[in-house]
Amino acid sequence: MQYVMIPQNIFSIPDFTELALLIDGCSENDIERALQSDKVDIHGLAALLSPAAESFLPRFAARSAEITDRRFGRTIQIYAPLYLSSFCVNRCAYCGFAADNKIERRILSYDEAEAEADILHQRGFNHILLVSGEAPARLGMEYLEEIARRLRQKFAAISIEVQPLEEDEYARLFAAGITSVAVYQETYDRKVYDQVHLSGKKCDFDYRLQTPARVAAAGMREVGIGALLGLADWRLEGVALGLHLAWLRKHYWRTALTVSFPRLCPAEGDFQPLVKVGEPQLSQLIFALRIFDPDVGLLLSTREEARFRDGMIGLGPTRYSAGSCTAPGGYSHPELGGEQFAVGDHRSIREVCSDICRKGYDPVRKDWDATFQVN
Ligand code: SF4
Repeated sequence: MQYVMIPQNIFSIPDFTELALLIDGCSENDIERALQSDKVDIHGLAALLSPAAESFLPRFAARSAEITDRRFGRTIQIYAPLYLSSFCVNRCAYCGFAADNKIERRILSYDEAEAEADILHQRGFNHILLVSGEAPARLGMEYLEEIARRLRQKFAAISIEVQPLEEDEYARLFAAGITSVAVYQETYDRKVYDQVHLSGKKCDFDYRLQTPARVAAAGMREVGIGALLGLADWRLEGVALGLHLAWLRKHYWRTALTVSFPRLCPAEGDFQPLVKVGEPQLSQLIFALRIFDPDVGLLLSTREEARFRDGMIGLGPTRYSAGSCTAPGGYSHPELGGEQFAVGDHRSIREVCSDICRKGYDPVRKDWDATFQVN
């Protein structure tokens, strides 16, 4: 079997040709060993993601559920995205906000953003994710700091998913009230990355890859990573995600880590997924990462349909979005349109929470308070 260790340097994550050799070398014995082990290494993760592992899926689900229950109990954290702006200077082939798409763009004023946040707060959300396209000249540090200061008293956790920033900027945002940062690599396959990122700063693969480390080094409480499923081989994305996760754990053990699994959804521009990733494949990926890293938070957003999300409760994911709108101003003005992508689960927070309760789990709206913070 090809031998791969956690890289010393984040830039030395092996390329997809090497990772494919790792998966190709896996046998059923490797899968059994990974399923029975309490500490799964990157070879075990490759085995769990291999084609031979597909027939083990029910056992994966049971093992993943057992680990999730032991580490997180019978809980699902709840959050909602708040879209601040649809302006973007990048051209990502798969995104409705790409600079060359002819859509009506909006950026929320401070008061408009606060009004959107108030709606989410009244609906019972305590954790919000502030999302925007990457247009630093319109939405930069000053904007983010002011929004954080306005919202920090109302929300226990405020995450951001905006343009990658420098370490000192993340430290400033943390001081202003931002508690976590999500920055997805989109794909760890450098060739595909170059194909789908057509212009803009996002074309710099290495700068993006290093961003979660800058977030953690700045002292942020949590960092989220992920791959956009549908761009490249999902099994290899899974191994690369595992390597990135393990590297972050080794170097920034004080930072909480999460992984998201966004699957490509229909968006402006009519981009078609380059590879098909169905629900069985997504399930295998989620179970494999849970078995590989018992402590990682796993997010399943409203990109997925209600039926699938309900079925996954208790099996691995630990955080669900609910009642989501992906257009700036969309909570105050649902008639406006201009979404980044179409959502698959249209239930309200109340409906999502009651379905979680019906399965015997507790929806958690608040799991953190700033008074816990030790400076
Ligand atoms: S994915 Fe992000 S950076 Fe790329 S076009 Fe969309 S909003 Fe801009």
